[in-house]
Amino acid sequence: MAPTDRQLSQQRAIVTGASSGIGAQIARVFARAGATVGVNYRGAAAAADATLREVRDGGGQAMALPADVSKEEDARRMFDDFAGRFGGVDILVANAGLQKDAAAAEMTLEAWRTVIDINLTGQFLCAREAVRRFLAQAPPPQGRARGKIICMSSVHEVIPWAGHINYAASKGGVMLMMKSLAQEVADKKIRVNGIAPGAIRTPINEAVWSDPAAMAALLRLIPYGRIGEPDDVARAALWLASDDSDYVTGTTLFVDGGMTLYPAFRDNG
Ligand code: NAD
Repeated sequence: MAPTDRQLSQQRAIVTGASSGIGAQIARVFARAGATVGVNYRGAAAAADATLREVRDGGGQAMALPADVSKEEDARRMFDDFAGRFGGVDILVANAGLQKDAAAAEMTLEAWRTVIDINLTGQFLCAREAVRRFLAQAPPPQGRARGKIICMSSVHEVIPWAGHINYAASKGGVMLMMKSLAQEVADKKIRVNGIAPGAIRTPINEAVWSDPAAMAALLRLIPYGRIGEPDDVARAALWLASDDSDYVTGTTLFVDGGMTLYPAFRDNG
């Protein structure tokens, strides 16, 4: 189904980390599907300008939402500002995240904490605000979900990753936070799901896809034979946010070209 089918009309969505990569594409695709989009970013306002312009050029409504998702007060203010302007919120895509890689013996406490604070605690803080808003709003007609949360995880919620133990721990945490929250709020008609991207071409891993040797090594890990694009993930997010997935909750959708299919076993084992 094309994003122009407007599966998200009348829906209000906050996308965190929407100034770049996967989050920016989700904001564009959601807007094309009819959603009003809150474009969260951290740092300089100019960082979100391109996403906001593209959403508005496509005819969508958008609002810039500066906030550091790892800060409780920022997360609360972001939801207050968005809900205050648009009357509520229906969808959260908790996407903001980063890597601070190091071998375990060299990893500073600061690098450990920063990744856990943003990738895991940041998702908790935003999900908590979203649940509070969903519960305070009247449920929609026809018994559909009163709110949807999509947690951006990673194949590293299940694949161990040497040199990235803070990142893998954060995504493993996201997976069980997502499932536990889904179990907790399902009877309130709130759906909570995760997306686990494999390797997607964004600034987070530019060092890999901009280096032909590193790219060739990466492709050996991807049975489908290509790196993913932000749009591959955005289309999965659109489905999880729409009524097309109304009976889906507590699930991780892997968008990874088969990276989790143990490709090393193709000719061995
Ligand atoms: P990216 O670097 O392009 O985007 C990350 C975004 O998060 C940026 O906009 C950044 O400003 C924002 N951000 C970082 N810290 C923040 C904070 N404290 N508050 C608010 N925003 C903050 O990278 P991406 O690849 O688009 O990553 C998006 C998500 O997808 C991340 O959670 C990442 O772990 C996940 N992911 C990416 C890949 C991949 O291959 N690109 C694979 C698996 C999972």
